[in-house]
Amino acid sequence: MHVITTIQEMLIARASWGNSAPVGLVPTMGYLHEGHLSLVRQARAENDFLAASIFVNPTQFGPHEDLARYPRDLPRDLRLLEECGVDVVFTPAAADMYPANFATYIDPGGPLATAAEGASRPGHFRGVATVVLKLFQIIQPERAYFGQKDAQQVAVITRMVTDLNLPVHLCILPTIREASGLALSSRNAYLEPDVRAASTILYQALTAGKQAFESAPSSGQASVTQASAKMQEVIAREPLARLDYAEVRDPTTFSPLETLRAPALLLVAATFGTTRLIDNFLLRPDGSWDCGKVQVREEYS
Ligand code: AMP
Repeated sequence: MHVITTIQEMLIARASWGNSAPVGLVPTMGYLHEGHLSLVRQARAENDFLAASIFVNPTQFGPHEDLARYPRDLPRDLRLLEECGVDVVFTPAAADMYPANFATYIDPGGPLATAAEGASRPGHFRGVATVVLKLFQIIQPERAYFGQKDAQQVAVITRMVTDLNLPVHLCILPTIREASGLALSSRNAYLEPDVRAASTILYQALTAGKQAFESAPSSGQASVTQASAKMQEVIAREPLARLDYAEVRDPTTFSPLETLRAPALLLVAATFGTTRLIDNFLLRPDGSWDCGKVQVREEYS
């Protein structure tokens, strides 16, 4: 496995792979867990060459967010990626990705950028879209792998790929969860034991929202409102949780849902102490639910 720290070296490595064998990319911010590794394993099985990036992207953090304290453990990440058979780990410096006078950003529009995470984290998706496009340009993957855990990120990147005619196939994989239902996240490292236990309320809220969805007396707007209210009510029961939002939206456009129908996305976000967590359940177009998967390997939680 090669660890590459500059864009220049990454471009040379990419050129050496040629254009006939498929290249996969798994973009991450590091501090890897089984959610990341599920993407890496799938990508390894589907591509001849595999790159994973580790880059804590400063442009997607707000001024009062956790950029400085975001958890990092590069030696451990490299060991895990090597075990998964990754060919190249691309871990550039911020000054290489955003040199002095950097001025060109990708600016997603509409509810995709302004609703839910977009409302709570202004500028977040501008940073995400910009860094993902840069990674696509540098690594030129045939396939790129993302987690359903970040449903709005998936929607923003899917829109960007369509709008800008990017020659990449996006592979979206289910959210990996602990047995408690808590979705794996690098930010779970911040949680003290009592708060960690409390944070399973997000999964419980989504489960209650799904039940409300399935047992709604009609498909009208009132039932959509009721499903959201149910999720809010469950989160309000947990004293350690401060609700940010609990809503039902269209998974592609992020417009609010007007009738209770597939496809739909149940979305929750709440802060536990100083840690903000998000989660979602997806009702697919065919009427089946993607509620994520419980992880089988305990050692990477
Ligand atoms: P991050 O390092 O948080 O930027 O995440 C890198 C990639 O891993 C993104 O595509 C995430 O959606 C994905 N990811 C994060 N957590 C999970 C999880 N629990 N299950 C599946 N994918 C995940």
